[in-house]
Amino acid sequence: MAATVHGLPAAFRRALEAVALWSRVNSPWLVHFNSGSCNGCDIEILATLAPRWDLERFGAKLWGSPRHADVLVCTGPVTRLARERLVRVYEQMPAPKFVVAVGSCGITGGAFHGCYNIVGDIGDVVPVDVYVPGCPPRPEAIIDGVIQLLTRLRPPKARRHAAKAAAPGGAA
Ligand code: SF4
Repeated sequence: MAATVHGLPAAFRRALEAVALWSRVNSPWLVHFNSGSCNGCDIEILATLAPRWDLERFGAKLWGSPRHADVLVCTGPVTRLARERLVRVYEQMPAPKFVVAVGSCGITGGAFHGCYNIVGDIGDVVPVDVYVPGCPPRPEAIIDGVIQLLTRLRPPKARRHAAKAAAPGGAA
């Protein structure tokens, strides 16, 4: 019999992991957190999810609980008040978990850099996978950030196939 990990045959465990990855890439659940933004970026995120830009066509779903979310979409610099909450939200997410920082304030502190109540940018508090620059970034840029993350999560073979399909004259 093949070696077992966590009591499951290795082949069965690999198949389960492949299904979990396929589900995550095709239907990522997002949780949104404002760690001190002026709300400009948050309005763009909501517009991104609404029918005009329709991020949901990629399977993404905004969810109200970090306990069921795969991706933390975070805006703003991090204020003293929000720091502990940001860490708590991140820690409540099940692994593997990913962070998309939306807006210039989340990258450098932006307009709020150096303010008395700011402890830093998002990357100073939780690990960030994708940064989306802009003040605020347009919905197209936010969609691009999420798609970049999902592309990175795909297995190499699926990534090559998607790139081929996206190339001019590639398969639809
Ligand atoms: S990047 Fe611009 S819109 Fe977004 S939180 Fe900062 S100041 Fe507001």
